[in-house]
Amino acid sequence: MTASFGDLNPPPRLIMGPGPVDADPRVLRAMSMPLLGQFDPAFTAYMNEVMALYRQVYQTKNKWTFLVDGTARAGIEAILTSLIAPGDRVLVPIFGRFGHLLAEIARRCRAEVQTIEAEWGTVFDPGQVEDAVKTFKPRLIACVHGDTSTTMAQPLEEIARIGHRHDALVYTDATATLGGMDVAVDRWGVDAISAGLQKCLSGPPGSAPISFNERVAERINARKHVEQGIRADGTVEGNGPIIQSNYFDLAMLMDYWGESRLNHHTEATSMLYAARECARIVIEEGLAARVARHETGSRALVAGLQAMGLTIFGDSKHKMPNVTGIVIPPKIDGERVRGELLNDFGIEIGTSFGPLKGRIWRIGTMGYGCQKRNVLLCLAALEAVLRQQGYAAKPGAGVDAALAEYRQAEK
Ligand SMILES: *Cc1c(COP(=O)(O)O)cnc(C)c1O
Repeated sequence: MTASFGDLNPPPRLIMGPGPVDADPRVLRAMSMPLLGQFDPAFTAYMNEVMALYRQVYQTKNKWTFLVDGTARAGIEAILTSLIAPGDRVLVPIFGRFGHLLAEIARRCRAEVQTIEAEWGTVFDPGQVEDAVKTFKPRLIACVHGDTSTTMAQPLEEIARIGHRHDALVYTDATATLGGMDVAVDRWGVDAISAGLQKCLSGPPGSAPISFNERVAERINARKHVEQGIRADGTVEGNGPIIQSNYFDLAMLMDYWGESRLNHHTEATSMLYAARECARIVIEEGLAARVARHETGSRALVAGLQAMGLTIFGDSKHKMPNVTGIVIPPKIDGERVRGELLNDFGIEIGTSFGPLKGRIWRIGTMGYGCQKRNVLLCLAALEAVLRQQGYAAKPGAGVDAALAEYRQAEK
């Protein structure tokens, strides 16, 4: 018997959640290009272009800037698994869901993990991190940059300095911020960083651009053990304990992306095309212009929501410009609002996790999706849906206030 399902025909949506978001059509087009063999010189040239492009996106000179195949979490696991040897001390400052994820992955790497926690909706004062570093003496500090679960972004420059003063490496998860906020790897002094395509880079989930410096490479290469079947004469192996994962072994991935082009997994061809196009779009727009576009989008959305009498969640000084948390008003059924936005308007917005589940909605203004018309459509639709539940904002107030912000920015 043959199963007969129809052609793929996804319903039209405007994805205004905290990620994944709508892909830039240019990225989808790049993904439909013909495949190449992984050692075809045309393909390895694309691999090198991807490295050069992401050095620009990450604002770094790091040689080791390449893709890990898999969603953002694959980048996180590759770095943590390759860097953390069993028994290593790792400090994780947690200010949202993804901080808990870093701590969990570090524990799976059999690190001795210490966490410090900031209330959701706030970030850390660098002094709090330094106090913990002084007593715990970690080898690694792992800290999220922007945590979409709370909409907060942790300033990292001072944390990187603290790490270096106390001989700890600093890793950050910039999945939610790369391409939407300033992410300056070299200027900040962050040692290792990872991201994914499906937030402000406006690609599909499935590729994780990462970057790390020579200090990180050295520590990883000390644990290098090359697969027997591909080991070449003269391979230098490390003395350190073997990296637990083969797929995420960055020592072997350096050999794959580096000059020796030693075979490892089959690079995900179409995802590499996607990642390449995502970065090209960012560079063409310009990093500063792109950050400014996200800031304007955030200001307009916030102005619109406030004009509707809604309360923005969290510390406004540290709010990410690409995602906005809204306190669900009393007596309003938050899930019903999300359902009606989706069913009546084709617009998806998010809720949150853990202590914020059912307490806030989250609206993303990320990458390709961060457009004036999307912000205005979203506000107009939200106003209508809220009115159905008896929440009476002044009609048109949200859209008018957002338009005023855009007019101001366009001057
Ligand atoms: C969205 C997000 C992720 C997502 O990880 P996936 O494996 O791609 O689902 C990771 N970290 C942060 C900070 C995020 O915002």
